[in-house]
Amino acid sequence: MKRVYSFNEGGKHMIDILGGKGGNLAEMKQQNLPIPNGIIISTTSCKEYYLNNKNISSELENEILEKLSELESMTEKKFDGDNPMLVSVRSGAPVSMPGMMDTILNLGMNDLVAENMCKIFNDKDFVYDVYFRFIQMFSEIVMGIEKERFFELKEREKNKVQLIQLAKEFYFSEIGERFPETAKEQIFMAVKAIFNSWNNERAILYRKLNNIDDNMGTAVVIQEMVFGNLNNKSGTGVVFTRNPSTGERKIFGEFLLNAQGEDIVAGIRTPEPIERLEKEMPKVYEELLQLCEILEKNNKDMQDIEFTIENGKLFLLQTRAGKRSSQAAIKIAVDMVKEEILSKQEAILTINPAILPQLLHGDFDSSALKEATLLGEGLPASAGVAVGRVMLSADRIPTKALTILVREETSPEDIKGMSLAQGIITVKGGATSHGAVVARGMGKCCITGCGDIKIDEEKRELTIGKHSLKEGDFISISGYTGKIYLGKIPLTKPEFADNLKEFISWCKEIKRLGVRMNADTVEDIKFGKEFGAEGIGLCRTEHMFFQNEKIWSIREMILSETEIEQKNALEKIYQIQRDDFYKIFKTIGEDKIIIRLLDPPLHEFLPKTLKDKELMAKNFNISLDILEKRINELKDENPMLGHRGCRLAISLPELYNIQVKAIMEAAIQVYKEGIDVKPEIMLPLIIEVEELKYIKNNIVNEIKKVFENYQQEIYYKIGTMIETPRAALLSDEIAKEVDFFSFGTNDLTQTTFGLSRDDSIKFMEKYYENNIFKVDPFVSIDKKGVGKLVKLSTEAGRENNPKINIGICGEHGGESESIDFFNSIGLDYVSCSPFRVLTAIVSAAQAHLKSRY
Ligand code: PEP
Ligand code: MG
Repeated sequence: MKRVYSFNEGGKHMIDILGGKGGNLAEMKQQNLPIPNGIIISTTSCKEYYLNNKNISSELENEILEKLSELESMTEKKFDGDNPMLVSVRSGAPVSMPGMMDTILNLGMNDLVAENMCKIFNDKDFVYDVYFRFIQMFSEIVMGIEKERFFELKEREKNKVQLIQLAKEFYFSEIGERFPETAKEQIFMAVKAIFNSWNNERAILYRKLNNIDDNMGTAVVIQEMVFGNLNNKSGTGVVFTRNPSTGERKIFGEFLLNAQGEDIVAGIRTPEPIERLEKEMPKVYEELLQLCEILEKNNKDMQDIEFTIENGKLFLLQTRAGKRSSQAAIKIAVDMVKEEILSKQEAILTINPAILPQLLHGDFDSSALKEATLLGEGLPASAGVAVGRVMLSADRIPTKALTILVREETSPEDIKGMSLAQGIITVKGGATSHGAVVARGMGKCCITGCGDIKIDEEKRELTIGKHSLKEGDFISISGYTGKIYLGKIPLTKPEFADNLKEFISWCKEIKRLGVRMNADTVEDIKFGKEFGAEGIGLCRTEHMFFQNEKIWSIREMILSETEIEQKNALEKIYQIQRDDFYKIFKTIGEDKIIIRLLDPPLHEFLPKTLKDKELMAKNFNISLDILEKRINELKDENPMLGHRGCRLAISLPELYNIQVKAIMEAAIQVYKEGIDVKPEIMLPLIIEVEELKYIKNNIVNEIKKVFENYQQEIYYKIGTMIETPRAALLSDEIAKEVDFFSFGTNDLTQTTFGLSRDDSIKFMEKYYENNIFKVDPFVSIDKKGVGKLVKLSTEAGRENNPKINIGICGEHGGESESIDFFNSIGLDYVSCSPFRVLTAIVSAAQAHLKSRY
């Protein structure tokens, strides 16, 4: 096993072993770019160090010494010698973890080296400055002594030579051992410290937040020092090859004359914009521009480069892919295709699909965010950011004010409030709770499951953790992170820019998987169409009753006791549906539209608060007592598994019949106006083939009646959702009866796991903390269990009905990892809320590209 490499022994393809920094430096060496020489201790050595109870093995020690001595001959410098070698020791993991681990500069310094350096540089101030920086940094990183203590010494002792002695004495008094004098001692202590920094608190947290494997380990780069702090023809800086916030093709960065890199990081001196370098050292600036271009072309990406100038000579110390805003990411990808740096396929693979909603919703201004006070955190349930006044009930929300609705959980009464509010927070509920699904449909930012919030309805107050807020106080919330902040944070502007449109059109050319939308209102359909949705994969008819006063017709139906009452309620439902579908068909045009017949878990439709119950009793002209009694009779202990879905049509077949009548009549009307509409009717929560046949028979008869009445036949299909394990297991038989399947993976996850999609949030956190589950199965599809059922059902369905069309319309349809899985098992399409359509299109294109490479 080889443990240590010199820069000319590797390249970018070895980033797993050499780390990002090491791999890129080796690559630059291959290309003869100006970088100081050095060696790389592999990530494998780091793993070995941990296996070895945090000891450097004798093999590793020997390899390091051997490579260092090669470095000495290559550079014609010697540690502790007349022409002394100084080095930096830096961490470098295979994935970038900016600022999480440690760096030490100027190793190799001791009294003798200082004297020899004075002879070479003829600048005592510079040499002792370097010496002091080294002692301070080494003591901080290796021994954990606060840097301020050393700065205090520096304030006190102005004689630079005496300051060194003082610093070493201070080190001795703190540690109880003398300061290490030889390069060898210093380097081995530093390497151990870097290995240890892999497991410092902030690195562990960063890995957890970014899903980075804890076992990867870090490499260590030991590199010959060049001195940016030598004189006024020296300096150090950082440059991005393009503007990381706008994507503009112009270098962007800053530099400091006569300084070492740490001066920028520590913020002691304010750096100058990179353009100043053009005035100070035009030749160096010109060379830097050329190097930026070379590095961008070689790496096929925007680069973030660290450089140092020593006495007028430019050195590159590091290059890596630059972090960028979502706007910049798209602009850079599109520009690079036009500049022929990337192919369209490569450009598509550079984009993280999860950033796309930010382009439609905007984001917090990043510098203001750093200053903001964090109040608490919940689940990031729907992308976007919002700023507004806390409102505790929907009926208080004024039409024109900026508000954030904060509720225990949301109910249909809240829909109006939700649509007026800028954003929504719920104390309870997970990623597929009512609040989350509705907010996502509306394209509103939403945080669910924020258990830290305690609402006091009486006092119109709430607490989030330690902080108390009154109704009307401003907060800012992020649906990307689930974080809630105090006050107003400024926002960046949202846009569906031309370059994004172009990028999306490339993804559409390349992807195989269809992308449809889950939409049930004219506005949503317009949004989804603009973003590129190819028809509707799920129109939830019960959602159509959330608008305005329509909910009363469903409530009337639910509560009706006599046949007459029922008939009246059904007639109202029919009228509403007939009118709404006419508008919907006109908007969706000739694209396919899957309409799901009513699936209301009753609890989503009944009033919860006393006030709402009073209103309902008044509306129905009955006493509150009677209403309460009826609600109680109807109440399911477990509404999600209760009287919902197709069960409704077994108890009351007329319900689906009048819906189908309304749908087909509206479709024929629009057809006669010249639009070749394509309604597809879908049944929810099927559990049995006979059940399916029974309902299908009823609705097909109804459709025939409509065709006869209007003397017009039009396109239609009948399909089913697969949302229970039993339906998945019976797919072979079910497939013979239908034209399509659509997996309702929200319910299929709920029923396969036996975990409530609303309640599991309360206890699942511990599962993630203990690594039992890595991700929320209601967010990203559980491939092992639920995914297996989807695959099995798809295969059985296709075998028994080769023409069957198969898709998925649960919330997983807008999540990248899940889309990759659905692509791999050959589904025909995914369907998701309009604001996630872009993410789905890009994910589908990436899934297809990855499956081909
Ligand atoms: C599902 O269960 O995945 C689904 C799409 O239906 P709903 O969320 O409306 O239950
Ligand atoms: Mg469902």
